[in-house]
Amino acid sequence: MHRKEFRELISIEDARHLVDEIAVQPTNKSTLIENALGCIIAEDVVSDVDVPSFNRAVMDGYAVCAKDTYNASETGPAKLKSIGSIPAGCTDKFSVTEGTTVEIATGAPIPDGADAVLMVEHTEREDDDIRVYRPVHTGENIMRAGSDIMRGERVLRKGSRIGSREIGVISAIGKREILTRSVKVGIISTGDELIQPGESLKEGKIYDTNTYALAASIMECGGSPIMYGIARDDETEMKGAIEIAVRECDIVLTSGSTSAGAGDIIYKIIEDKGTTLAHGINIKPGKPVVIGLIANVPTIGLPGNPTSALTIFNELVAPMIRRAVGTKEELRSITSAILNTSFRSEGRQQFLPVGLVRGKAYPADKGSGAITTLADADGFIEIRAETEFIEAGTPVEVTLFGDVSKPDVLLVGGYCPGVDLLEDMTGLNFRVLNTGSSGGFSATSAGNADIAGVNMPDSSGEYNIPIIKGMGLSDVVLIKGYRREQGLIVRHDSDISGLEDIIGKRLINRNRGSGTRALLDLKLRELAGQKGMSHRDLTRSIIGYDSGAKTHRAVCDAVRNGRSDVGFGLRAMADEADLKFIKVAVEEYDFLVQKDLLEIDEIKALLECLTSGEFAERLPAGIFVHERTGEIGYEL
Ligand code: AMP
Ligand code: MG
Repeated sequence: MHRKEFRELISIEDARHLVDEIAVQPTNKSTLIENALGCIIAEDVVSDVDVPSFNRAVMDGYAVCAKDTYNASETGPAKLKSIGSIPAGCTDKFSVTEGTTVEIATGAPIPDGADAVLMVEHTEREDDDIRVYRPVHTGENIMRAGSDIMRGERVLRKGSRIGSREIGVISAIGKREILTRSVKVGIISTGDELIQPGESLKEGKIYDTNTYALAASIMECGGSPIMYGIARDDETEMKGAIEIAVRECDIVLTSGSTSAGAGDIIYKIIEDKGTTLAHGINIKPGKPVVIGLIANVPTIGLPGNPTSALTIFNELVAPMIRRAVGTKEELRSITSAILNTSFRSEGRQQFLPVGLVRGKAYPADKGSGAITTLADADGFIEIRAETEFIEAGTPVEVTLFGDVSKPDVLLVGGYCPGVDLLEDMTGLNFRVLNTGSSGGFSATSAGNADIAGVNMPDSSGEYNIPIIKGMGLSDVVLIKGYRREQGLIVRHDSDISGLEDIIGKRLINRNRGSGTRALLDLKLRELAGQKGMSHRDLTRSIIGYDSGAKTHRAVCDAVRNGRSDVGFGLRAMADEADLKFIKVAVEEYDFLVQKDLLEIDEIKALLECLTSGEFAERLPAGIFVHERTGEIGYEL
């Protein structure tokens, strides 16, 4: 197949109009209330009964004629004769007349003649003689029949979603089953590279994210997802899956294989088996989209990239499902925020994912290939094609993705298990972006981090401060953190026992920008000096010196499974992976904090925790506080 270009990109508005025209038939079914959570109600629910169905007591006490108590007081109690007792659920008939009363329990039916309930606390009893110390008024402590729900009253509206409260109401009116409405939405993921979560990860494979993220999104809209699993990049296999799904579902979604690359065949299948309504939308993320109809079933080819797939789902598919089930609830809410960094557009309409921390919107755009764009984003800003530039500090409207957990602190920088401990101990909700120390410095400089965790040495061996000076950072303080043992990570049977032994061995190095890589480099420079070699010659003799694993854990994995002989990282990580650790250096891990945040409660709590005895005690092996922990080490 030759490369196919997108023929005509349509705008997102036109795509919205297009899907508005597509009619989707919902399916109604009777659902037991215990299975109805999250379902959409297909018809108005009207009560056949009064709730409560009789006048009932709302307090433990005595059912009385209110006027018998009007003159009662602490000093001049009224006297009544008790003629019986009514527990909850009692069907015995009593009649209260002037001068008499009946003892009554909360929830029990009010006897004839009584028009109020006197709280037991305001009475005193001696045999059947009741002394009343306070007056009650007519109707006091009585819940009238039908006062909660009246017979004939509409208690729930068609199209509303059933939550715990709704289930309570439906059971209170005595219904066990209700009619719910759904649309069946089939999901097919495509791609030879995909494997199912739960399987072990193999070289070159990635986990199928779209199936599960889409299934959950469909449920959020009141639809029922049907998962057809992964179709290989094979026209026959994809066609087969689509044929089955179209027969069984009201809407069919595929993901992947929609872009104009050679292997991208969804478009061709839809074109062969039905009609294509659109191929390509002029939006970022999400351009490669196919919208078609096969046997009258809307069949949407979503982009493969998870962020794009979910964005297009939210824009085009969610409204279709919500309309079909008849729900009026608007899942998305909009909040105002202040854009934290200036943004320059590409002149294309765009949904820019942003994270929200304490009212500020931080662009969270790692490119549409990253699921974490969505994990780190709380919503998006819609940017029109004609907008070229938005200045930092501009108020923006953020469309939220469903329920948003509100992070208290945005922490960017080098990974550290000590940070996880700080989060656990303070109970604060951190958003942690593990970018490495360099990323921490630059995010701080751009105002895109509340705190950066940094462990970057310069050539003199001093940590962090030379970098701050070099970058000319201002309005920040450096809070001294803790020390961490860094060293070689090898298998237990390795013959490596020191830095010198890694010459000629296969090293898994860390990514450029990580403080850990910079530290190894510093130590190698020292070693080269001792050996009278150039640093360059030394590093060239280490196989894999140019490699760049993003995380400590990736380093340990490579060593464990034998792809590499040696890595460099934290003792805590070697311990966790059951590998041998050979200490090479002790480094300083510090916190760079925006100065204006020092006074906010979240940061105060964090500093308090950092200097607490419990924190020192709970740090993992190889990480320890020191005499300067919590001190302001540098201020600008
Ligand atoms: P494609 O359009 O098939 O080339 O897919 C675009 C990108 O999305 C590729 O990097 C795919 O590996 C990725 N991708 C496709 N489907 C999925 C999926 N179900 N889960 C996660 N990533 C996917
Ligand atoms: Mg693909």
